[in-house]
Amino acid sequence: MSIFEAEDFADHDQVSFCRDRSAGLFAIIAIHDVTLGPAAGGCRMWPYASEEEAIRDALRLSRGMTYKNVMAELPHGGGKSVILGDPRTDKSEALLRAFGRFVESLGGRYIAAEDVGMTADDMDIVAGETHHVAGSNRSRASGDPSPFTAHGVFAALRVAVEHQLQRSSLEGLRVALQGVGSVGMHLCRLLHEQGAELVVADVDPEAVAEAVARFGARAVGPEDIYAEDVDVFAPCALGAVLDDESVAKLRASLVVGAANNQLARPHHGDELARRGVLYAPDYVVNAGGIINVAAEIAGDYDPDAVLERAERIGERLREILCQAQIKGEAPFRVADAMAHEKLEAARAGRRLAAVP
Ligand code: NAD
Repeated sequence: MSIFEAEDFADHDQVSFCRDRSAGLFAIIAIHDVTLGPAAGGCRMWPYASEEEAIRDALRLSRGMTYKNVMAELPHGGGKSVILGDPRTDKSEALLRAFGRFVESLGGRYIAAEDVGMTADDMDIVAGETHHVAGSNRSRASGDPSPFTAHGVFAALRVAVEHQLQRSSLEGLRVALQGVGSVGMHLCRLLHEQGAELVVADVDPEAVAEAVARFGARAVGPEDIYAEDVDVFAPCALGAVLDDESVAKLRASLVVGAANNQLARPHHGDELARRGVLYAPDYVVNAGGIINVAAEIAGDYDPDAVLERAERIGERLREILCQAQIKGEAPFRVADAMAHEKLEAARAGRRLAAVP
């Protein structure tokens, strides 16, 4: 497979394949763009079915990070790394250290944080080999980003509900959550506090049991969550869940969730719009975590200030929804155009600055 011809290759700046035999590490570090600053984005460990699947994920996720960072007005480009393997059985100190050495070898062009399959404890180990890491447990580090991500998703959800359903209270709002892991569980709590009715699905029965016990959620099977008769579908598990099959099943009129790359392909976003479903662009609504990470990198970490910035995600979404309404376009198309425009302006600024 040629990377340069891969369907998801979008002029990526640098894609590194990292192999450490003795540690058993296979990883890919994808840097999509560094116009706005060093690429920042999470490291995911996942038992990919094939190398192609892992490459595809790294390419899509890193590109998404560029869009996410530019829309959140952060001084960072987009990057993401994936470690091929099962985090429950294949993770070891040697593997994490080897990964850290590869991050270090990039000289700060990529700053790693945690993502699915990685924890703050893991990032501590990675940090033993490189300074270019955020989200560990070290002092002055920002720790687990998921409460901040959930806060931003919640702020966006409120605005989307107001826009689409013309209601400001979440009392009795019916929300189906796909995935009640780190972000999904926090989101459950925030919604439950406002009186929302929750339906949850997860492949992990313990996570489901916790959501049922703590928030009175109703549990359904992972395949049944799409067709639930609810107001909001909140994807908080993995990406590419909005495809031909799921879009046809959806009964919710809003899709707002934390997962990255929710659309399997862009035309699925158009199809949602055609069906009258408001899909809130994932990289706009789930930026709370990277806002948290960026605050740590900037060296002035203040959790309250991060929460305030995450709250502003709601207003950013409102602007996108208003523009979408005026232009008669799907919100994700409007967000893509905005991100592209901001990036082009930054590139033009850099070109000008480079002229002697
Ligand atoms: P997590 O691993 O803690 O939680 C994911 C949950 O989804 C797990 O409980 C898992 O069992 C469940 N799951 C996996 N496959 C499923 C399926 N087919 N059906 C139902 N449930 C399934 O991850 P997280 O940190 O909560 O992140 C969730 C999503 O949000 C990911 O896509 C991640 O990339 C994205 N995201 C997370 C953050 C963050 O701050 N953690 C920030 C931005 C985006």
